[in-house]
Amino acid sequence: MAEVLVRVRNLVKYFKTSRGVVHAVDDISFDIEEGKTIGIVGESGCGKSTTGRCLICLIEPTSGEIIYRGQDICRLKRSEMKKLRKEMQIIFQDPYASLNPRKTLLQIIAEPLLYNKIIRTKDKFAIEKRVLELMDKVGLAERLINTYPHELDGGRRQRIGIARALAMEPKFIVCDEPVSALDVSIQAQILNLLKELQRDLGLTYVFITHDLSVVNHFSDDIVVMYLGQIVEKAPADELFENPLHPYTQALLSAILIPAVGANRERIKLRGELASPIDPPPVCRFDKRCNYYCQDCDNGVPPLLEITPGHFVACHLVKPRGNATVKAS
Ligand code: SF4
Repeated sequence: MAEVLVRVRNLVKYFKTSRGVVHAVDDISFDIEEGKTIGIVGESGCGKSTTGRCLICLIEPTSGEIIYRGQDICRLKRSEMKKLRKEMQIIFQDPYASLNPRKTLLQIIAEPLLYNKIIRTKDKFAIEKRVLELMDKVGLAERLINTYPHELDGGRRQRIGIARALAMEPKFIVCDEPVSALDVSIQAQILNLLKELQRDLGLTYVFITHDLSVVNHFSDDIVVMYLGQIVEKAPADELFENPLHPYTQALLSAILIPAVGANRERIKLRGELASPIDPPPVCRFDKRCNYYCQDCDNGVPPLLEITPGHFVACHLVKPRGNATVKAS
């Protein structure tokens, strides 16, 4: 079993607004093993991106611990965090919005090297050499070094974002919806590239997406979030074969099955995601759940280990045995 690189314990992130307190992330815990990928999935507003940003301290958690290589990074001094941040990088969803349109590839990819004083500004030869190495690693042709982001397609722009993230030789990368803005064929190329880089460089990923089909073959473990909380957590194969939470079942039922003759009934969810402002202390999925019954009003369902490594937060799914959710 791989070593745990990041331990997340009771992570909470609230935002105070004029309408009340938004419970963006509400007491979640999970481990990320070194060299592995953990997928975090859920609808917009479920707290997955906020979680990703907390993991690398881009935003400060309200409470909880994020233990990276044995140190709680939420309690590090700014200077200590600056050193550690080199090991932690993020790849954003929209490569176009995250790249400065006035800068060339050379300038964009060199930026973190210069900012962190890895290479001196006047050492132009060393800068270009390192940028070309990074471009080669992510499959960008040498001739593109002086082009601007708007001259390239979405796939190439995302490769620039990946090259920039790799510049600091990170160990841990949060990939925040890195392929959702791309065409399906380009998505596959970027996913393959990320996999190759993981294999070659021993990277650990958190892969955030609203699309379960994307994480299917990419993640080792999957965390399903709903309205700031984890509702299910399991190894990827187990989650796809045996989803136990009604929300995960609905998400999976919406995925197209490529097999001939495959037939899976789509589970329709009622209503919309509830407001994350001051949510009541009951199951947050209750208004949309097809299995809702009186037992569901019995407080917030705890995340319990149903079978080894498979955790579910639902009052109707009990630990051990052949656990299945039954309609009331
Ligand atoms: Fe549905 Fe009840 Fe389980 Fe919530 S606790 S997911 S409402 S069955």
